[in-house]
Amino acid sequence: MPETLQQKLDLVQQRIHHACARANRNPGEVRLLAVTKIFPAEIIREAWAIGLREFGENYVQEMENKAAAVADLAGARFHLIGHLQSNKTKKASQFFQTIDSVDSVKLARRLDAEGIPLDITVEVKLSHEESKTGADAAGLVDIVEAVRTSQNLRLKGLMTVPPWSEDVELSRPYFAKLRELAARHAIQELSMGMSHDLEVAIEEGATWVRVGTALFGKRKKP
Ligand SMILES: *Cc1c(COP(=O)(O)O)cnc(C)c1O
Repeated sequence: MPETLQQKLDLVQQRIHHACARANRNPGEVRLLAVTKIFPAEIIREAWAIGLREFGENYVQEMENKAAAVADLAGARFHLIGHLQSNKTKKASQFFQTIDSVDSVKLARRLDAEGIPLDITVEVKLSHEESKTGADAAGLVDIVEAVRTSQNLRLKGLMTVPPWSEDVELSRPYFAKLRELAARHAIQELSMGMSHDLEVAIEEGATWVRVGTALFGKRKKP
């Protein structure tokens, strides 16, 4: 079993490389977003020290609490991957460089109005789960338009989280659908795949995989 963060990172990178080899893709096209939610700022520092630079956090308040402790990490970028309420856009735009969970026109407009340049990924919900957030395929059209015509937002990608299943093959149709939607809107980045299903996501075109558990271990409940 891998013990250190370096060993776990090596394993995740091997998995990415193998999946790319199977899919005839260049591993340079697949970036790793290290998901540090629930873990202390110290973990982010440790991950930065072994070369990780892109971090995913789910909660604005948690990022605010960690921000001072990671402010000196050169080149570190923070992605908000959890749902954002439209009354928290000011703090979100202060503490994150990229908001990967934009799911409404209203939210896009509020982020734009904060006047700070931000990268944007639109979260798309392709399942029917009540508990999940995300735009539907129809709503996506309007959000894309709102972001593309904004002053401060740059549209980068689409993100989706399929229903969780032991059987990673069940994620595949969701990933394929996200790829189709991105192609239809000429969007480059695809954020899809997590610890358990990153291989399938890479086979379906992921350019970002969001990995928490496989790097940092099991999270305690927030
Ligand atoms: C927590 C989280 C992840 C990381 O999931 P793991 O299974 O721990 O790799 C990825 N994406 C989102 C949106 C998350 O909330």
